[in-house]
Amino acid sequence: MNGIYQVRKPKNEPVRTYEAGSLDRHLLEEALEELKNDFLDIPLIIGGKEIRTGSTKACILPHDHQTSIGHYHQAGQEEVAMAIEAALEAKASWEKMPFQHKASIFLKAAELLSTTWRYKMNAATMLVQSKNPHQAEIDVVCELIDFFKFNVHFMENILRDQALSTKETWNRVEYTGLDGFIYAVSPFNFTSIGGNLACAPALCGNVVLWKPASTAVYSNYMIMKLLEEAGMPKGVINFVPGPSQSITDAVLDHPEFSGFHYTGSTSVFSNIWLEIAKKLPTYRSYPRIVGETGGKNFVFAHHSADIDTLVVALVRGAFEYQGQKCSAAARTYIPESIWPQVKDKLLKMTSQLTYGPIDDFKHFVNAVIDKRSFDRIKGYIEKAQTSSDSELLFGGSCDDKVGYFVEPTIIQSFTPDSATMVQEIFGPVLTVYVYKDEDFIQTLNLCESSSPYALTGAIFAKDRDVLLTMENHLKKAAGNLYINDKPTGAVVGQQPFGGSRASGTNDKAGSKQNLMRWINTRVVKENFSSPTTYEYPFMSE
Ligand code: NAD
Repeated sequence: MNGIYQVRKPKNEPVRTYEAGSLDRHLLEEALEELKNDFLDIPLIIGGKEIRTGSTKACILPHDHQTSIGHYHQAGQEEVAMAIEAALEAKASWEKMPFQHKASIFLKAAELLSTTWRYKMNAATMLVQSKNPHQAEIDVVCELIDFFKFNVHFMENILRDQALSTKETWNRVEYTGLDGFIYAVSPFNFTSIGGNLACAPALCGNVVLWKPASTAVYSNYMIMKLLEEAGMPKGVINFVPGPSQSITDAVLDHPEFSGFHYTGSTSVFSNIWLEIAKKLPTYRSYPRIVGETGGKNFVFAHHSADIDTLVVALVRGAFEYQGQKCSAAARTYIPESIWPQVKDKLLKMTSQLTYGPIDDFKHFVNAVIDKRSFDRIKGYIEKAQTSSDSELLFGGSCDDKVGYFVEPTIIQSFTPDSATMVQEIFGPVLTVYVYKDEDFIQTLNLCESSSPYALTGAIFAKDRDVLLTMENHLKKAAGNLYINDKPTGAVVGQQPFGGSRASGTNDKAGSKQNLMRWINTRVVKENFSSPTTYEYPFMSE
């Protein structure tokens, strides 16, 4: 006989500060040294086995691109076929494993990450994704722990969610994984997102193939090792880094493909969706498709806004992690009457930011992820510099001699729909549009409609009626809207995250809503008073 178990209500993992002289700082520095002085040979992990194909790619430090601290083996079509087979083989026993045992694996992974794995995970993310200690800590430690713990808690709530029963019938709702396997494809910018894309469907009873972004393989591989230590059975999550197009083609060719869990750019997501649609008749089930994609997030200020908090929100929102957060503040609308003060403070604060390598802890800004990204951001800045619709107000320097460094940059756009106002740049570039105070409503409408995205946004005002007007005008313009706060920094369990329009399917990562997409529901009705005649009372004479 079993009990009916209860999962402890989770609390968000406290963010550690790593100030000079602290033990945390010392242990983090040690972990950084250790990883820098080592060279990691990263295999594929298929059915729990390490596979080395010999076709390798380097794990490079973006802030020091001549240095690599490892390489990873790339999967080909053959390894994808092996990974699908291994996943399907692991499926039956994983699905049968009682929820409390699956949950325990993730709760143990959370505990390990909070303790013995904390420094190594932070160091890995700092090195290969060029994050400062705070940015790494809120990503791979706090957010990933929160994903693990809150998903277990949400899953328990789902299991408890049962249909009505009557005196004569008992209706039981059963929640299991989908048929087949799930394909998880993750971006470079948050290690935690990679972990969640693979683990959320797994917690629901699914088996998974996980293809990480090429620039984040190093830290993502460590999540696989963490899960292994936490007791994840072999074959439940299979790690297949490598060339994205050919891996994806091989995955989508399989009839048991049943779900796509994606985070990354909009165009990649759209193309894969189209590909899935083309192959639809070959699948056993309708694949579930969940994607969180790009953004062009706004900060909209009213003239009643508090200027100091607005400026801090702009600086942190636009430049933390080099603007490479899907939620980063990228365009801002400032009324003419407060622009001189905002401009003065914004330029002053931005001029205080220093940028450089991650092991010099004083820097607020580090390198952008790779050459492709560096060139794209530089291209946008150069175009804005020569364009008659824009003026460079601050920054603009790009230097890739040692690392891919882009100076925090502020552009003023004289039209509301210039390239840097509406297209996702994904770098430390903030574009300002100054509007006439009397055009407040008109400008709200512009903000609503001029970008295809609807991920995050922030509104700043002191006047309550004005806030209400802004909130209503921008109802569908952001899946996550912030009032008098920066548009970044969503916390699992507090601000379920995701957007609509070109920003994705808005299934809210780290929420019950997301987990439901990976679940197959069966309702079992048992009748305690089965009828003994086909006749109904109305038929009587
Ligand atoms: P990306 O689109 O370059 O890559 C994302 C993933 O898709 C990677 O694993 C990559 O290898 C894979 N990929 C690329 N081309 C592919 C192809 N042709 N076929 C199959 N897979 C392919 O994105 P990125 O640079 O890693 O991440 C940045 C993007 O992610 C930005 O657009 C950002 O807004 C978005 N993002 C969104 C969220 C969100 O929650 N909405 C969160 C993080 C990042």
